[in-house]
Formats: sequence, C-alpha cells, structure tokens
Amino acid sequence: MTDGVWKTTLSRRHFLKAAARCAFFFGVCGIPAAARAQGEKKGFIGTKLSPYFLSLNNQRIQCQLCPRECLVANGQRGFCGVRENREGKYYSLVYGNPCAVHVDPIEKKPFYHVLPASTSFSIATAGCNFRCKFCQNWEISQTTPDETYNLELPPEKVVALAKKAGSRSIAYTYVEPTIFYEYMFDTAQLARKEGILNVCHSNGFINPGPLKELCQVLDAANIDLKGFTEEYYSSMSHGRLAPVLRTLKTLKKEGVHLEITNLMVPTKNDNMDTVKKMCAWIKNELGGDTPVHFSRFYPLYKLRNLPPTPVSTLEKSCKVALEIGLEYVYIGNVPGHISERTYCPSCQKLLIGRLGYFIGEINLSKGKCKYCGKPLPGIWA
Ligand code: SF4
Repeated sequence: MTDGVWKTTLSRRHFLKAAARCAFFFGVCGIPAAARAQGEKKGFIGTKLSPYFLSLNNQRIQCQLCPRECLVANGQRGFCGVRENREGKYYSLVYGNPCAVHVDPIEKKPFYHVLPASTSFSIATAGCNFRCKFCQNWEISQTTPDETYNLELPPEKVVALAKKAGSRSIAYTYVEPTIFYEYMFDTAQLARKEGILNVCHSNGFINPGPLKELCQVLDAANIDLKGFTEEYYSSMSHGRLAPVLRTLKTLKKEGVHLEITNLMVPTKNDNMDTVKKMCAWIKNELGGDTPVHFSRFYPLYKLRNLPPTPVSTLEKSCKVALEIGLEYVYIGNVPGHISERTYCPSCQKLLIGRLGYFIGEINLSKGKCKYCGKPLPGIWA
C-alpha cells in the first residue's frame, strides 16, 4: 500500500462524462431549481402519526423506533427532538419538510458497489438520535426542525424531482434517517414503484421491528460502525454498540446490500488491536465480501483539537482488514489514494477506477469481473 496520489487513468470519454456529472451537482448549488422555487420556510413542520409508540398512563408514551425508547410526557419531545407527544399520541415533526436536498454522486454516500457513476437524490431533515462529537453535519443534525429552513416536499415530490434529476436512487442521509422514518418509508415505497433504488447512510441505531419493515423497501445501506467498544460509543456519540451490530446482522439477513464506514479518529478509535477485532467480527458475522471504508477524520465540531487522521493509520487499518480476509477495503476522504479503487480479490485486476467522485474504467460484465468471472457483491444493473 502506498501513500501516493493515484496517477489517474481516466479516459477522455470517462473524464468528460464525470465532469458533466459534477457540473450538474455544483451548478445547482446542491438544491435542484424545482425544489428551490417552492421556497424554504424557517421552522416549517410536517406532521405524521408514528406507528411506533406504546401508550402509557397519564397520556405518557414510550417511543419504539430506536433503542433509546424514550419515555415522553404529554407536550414533550423525545431525545431526537423531532417527535412530540400530543395528548398521548406520538407524532413525527419531520414528515415532508427536509432541510437538505442535494443531487450527489452515489460514491459520496459512500457506496462503491452500487450503480457506480450514477447520482443519488439525497434528502435529510433536522435531528438525530446520536450526539457525535465529530459530526460533520452538526448544524442540521444537532438541532430541531423549528430552527432549520425547510422545504415543503412530500414523498411524491421527492420521487418526481429524483426522476427529473435523472437520479437512479434516493438517499436518506446526512443525519440519522431513522428519526425521519415515516417520511423515508413512504418515499421509498413510491420510489420503488418508479424503479428508483432506495439507499441510506445510517448509524444503525434502530429497533428490529421498524428495521425489518424498512428492509422491504430498502436496496442498500451504508452503516457507520463508529468504533468497536461500548465505551467509544458512549463517550463519543452518546450511543451504544450492541444495537448497531444487531442492525448489521439483520440487514445482511434481509438481503439488503451492505457497506460499512469506520471513521478513524486519532487517539480515539485507532487502536489496531480493536480494528483487528472489528474486522474479524465483520468477516465472521457478515462475510468477507462486505465492503469496508476506513474514512479520514478532519477536525470539526467538538473535536477541533485533534489533527486529521494520518494517512498511514488508514493504510495500517486496510492492511489489518485485508490480512483478516476482508476482500473490499477502501480508504475514504483521501482523494487520489490507491485504495479508492476496486480490485478483483481473485485475479487482482483493476475493476473500478476512482479519483474522488470521478469514476474511471469499469471492468465489470453483468456484475462479474470481466477477466476471471468472479461475481462482485453489489447492485450493478
Ligand atoms: S426515535 Fe427519537 S424519540 Fe424515538 S426513541 Fe429514538 S431518540 Fe427517542
């Protein structure tokens, strides 16, 4: 493994295609003109009754959506700040009111094994059920929909805009999508009818019941496996590891394409013995063909005192993962690194060339290595 920048082998044809894709992304400032024309409204709330709560005495409820299982009195909200008890009934306040709408390369999610070089229509509302000190979207995740500028965008409009943008998938992302579950689920149902894939980037902190329902309409998930100790989850994210591991196993069992992202935070979760344990767990429980992304941390939000992850640490993690037997191991947030590329684990030939979000050559035929015929896990057609 080298630290060097990849000398790109993008062909002129691929380069022009990729450049056109990026011109579209950045030319619209991230928000499609059709969506912007409807206007954002600060504090615009969209409500929907949640199917996931238990009624208790004195109009109290217990939320059943994520493992936090908040007990909420009448007039109060749960930990995520986007669900409210109104006279003993529990409502989502983030139904059809996203504060982030972007057309992104699917590689940005990151998905490296789902329709390479396609775009994903990406949405998020305010709120989150974690409190990660390193959150890169903290301005929208660590607030409530009362404070953000929201669009009025019901599920049918999301699907229509995704089609208009030519996106082959809709991504539920940027914040934890579990907190806008009802919006995600209804949008996903409509998208599927239109032949659009549903993909999510999630912390995996969701209860088994709603997760299994979601799996019926979800095509792919990238789950953050933030670390591999309960102590790390508790101190860095106000979360728990065990429910996340359960989610990973459920997604695999339910046949949802799965990729894993591990953000490596210097001095916090970069112990190689722990990385080794994590990789062994992935191999044994999910399979050696599960794509894993070791992602570079940059100082922000509550961890501005730490340096960016040394590239050498990411490379060591890749080496550990490959030695354990993981077949598709990537380095993220280091554009140009050789480990952005996909190689065939069988014949070692280059299968997908990448340079940041640019896609170079693709040497696949019907989801198989075009040289030796080994099938690649993922969604290719
Ligand atoms: S989804 Fe929100 S309200 Fe429900 S248990 Fe999780 S944090 Fe609490």
